[in-house]
Amino acid sequence: MKYLTALLAILSMTTILFTGTTFARSTFVTIGTGGITGVYYPTGGAIAKIVNKKKVKNGLRTLVDSTSGSVFNVNAIMAGDLEFGVVQSDRQFQAINGMAEWKTKGPQTDLRAVFSIYPEAVTLVAAADAGISSSKDLRGKKVNIGNPGSGQRQNAIDALTAAALNYEIDLTAESIKASEAAGLLQDNRIDAFFYTVGHPSGAIKEATSGARKVVIAEITGIEGLLEKFPYYTRTTIPIALYPGALNKHDVKTFGVKATLVTSAKVPDDIVYIITKEIFDNFEEFKKLHPAYAQLTKENMLTGLSAPIHPGAMKYYREVGLK
Ligand code: GLU
Repeated sequence: MKYLTALLAILSMTTILFTGTTFARSTFVTIGTGGITGVYYPTGGAIAKIVNKKKVKNGLRTLVDSTSGSVFNVNAIMAGDLEFGVVQSDRQFQAINGMAEWKTKGPQTDLRAVFSIYPEAVTLVAAADAGISSSKDLRGKKVNIGNPGSGQRQNAIDALTAAALNYEIDLTAESIKASEAAGLLQDNRIDAFFYTVGHPSGAIKEATSGARKVVIAEITGIEGLLEKFPYYTRTTIPIALYPGALNKHDVKTFGVKATLVTSAKVPDDIVYIITKEIFDNFEEFKKLHPAYAQLTKENMLTGLSAPIHPGAMKYYREVGLK
């Protein structure tokens, strides 16, 4: 991985690979994901696994980077540091419309959608001994709302606002990466954390299986959130996925979708190959993570707000999905 990244840096996107007795041109692309205990990282791995099976035939190698999350990924793609990224659908909407973190920079007009993948739920994990069963109990608590660069940070702020809590005044808000939050909760250093993530995820398994007992808390004011923000939908966290959590019932919350995005500057043939390999090998792809259980080819075209990249659109037209 390090070797390939170095090679990539030296030779830029295109290099020559010696394959058996012939020389074949090969292009490298990198997918930005999230922390390694999330679902973006294994999703980048799943996409790379499928696409790289034809690496010689297609002359395309896909690499995966662990990153700070959605906002980081959009910015890195726009800067040309990454070719692809997994990004929350709400963040895709905000970036293309110049909202939230992009308010000052303006609309990210080169952002392009490829497809959406699985639902992500705004997940509030809390220590049982902190007396938190709902987001409205977070007043005065030490709560990780997420690192700058993550998708969940704004979701946490929105959820707190819906519970009539100002994150800058009413609680101690931490800005730590989700991959560290479970450990901090278990070490008694925070009372709760927000993570917008697919289920099951390594981070929530880690948080719910330690000595300190935890609950996945309810979110207050979902109705108002849905009215105010067009990109939020209702979703449920199946508690059976986390037998260590103290909850007795599935948890109702709000959520978004994990989507794959790229830049208008990434060539059509590259985006076409990635789209085609995933859709042509859909059943195989679907088996690669339990969070993909509800995936259909049709619902992979929902939740996209940036224009669909022409390379992906070419494939969707060929197979009649568009
Ligand atoms: N939704 C999170 C973010 O956008 C990442 C979740 C994950 O890595 O699975 O930052």
